Amino acid sequence: MQWILIIISLLIAAGVTIYMKSTEKKYKEVKNQSGLTGAEAARRMLEANNIYNVQIEMLNADDGDHFDSATNTIRLSKDYFNGTSVAAVGVAMHEAGHALQHASNYAPLRIRHAAVQTTNVSSTLSYFLILLGIIFSSYALMTVGIWFFVAVVAFQLITLPVEFNASRRAVMSMQSMGMLTAEEQKGARKVLTAAALTYVAALLISVLQLIRLLLIRGSRE
Ligand SMILES: [Zn+2]
Repeated sequence: MQWILIIISLLIAAGVTIYMKSTEKKYKEVKNQSGLTGAEAARRMLEANNIYNVQIEMLNADDGDHFDSATNTIRLSKDYFNGTSVAAVGVAMHEAGHALQHASNYAPLRIRHAAVQTTNVSSTLSYFLILLGIIFSSYALMTVGIWFFVAVVAFQLITLPVEFNASRRAVMSMQSMGMLTAEEQKGARKVLTAAALTYVAALLISVLQLIRLLLIRGSRE
């Protein structure tokens, strides 16, 4: 049973990664007709929503695009900051969507932000306790470790509305601002859907891991 769970997890991870990478690659090669860069698209989306206090910076890396709510900064990878691809505009507007969430005090984003540190600690503690639980065949240690792991899963769950909502805001702006053609919008949406799928996959894999931990614990009762 356990190896089936491991194989399913690997298949989900591989499938989603391949889909994400190929979709991203495809729309990185399609330039948008208005010649907008990711940074410009994000800036216009913010200004259309009367937000002028967000920094947009370029990362010295090929990935890791994110919105940092502590400093109110959108950071985009080089290709997306300067690039005029459909993927660049889509991803940059998604990050601008997070900035809009921050500006409107969107509750799931606040909760997610507040839980980041605790989740990192929970994750480390969880693995440590479960490992000790296995070594010492301790049901109690494993149980505590599993509860810390549940906290990590809960964090991944709260990430979903935050991500879906940021993409929804991006898509709404694309439609209302007319920066992309209908065909380009379709491509940008595909990139955002693929990115959202990676968060769903991460949650699914964690749930399978949780089931596996419960099975391991059950076999040591
Ligand atoms: Zn996001």
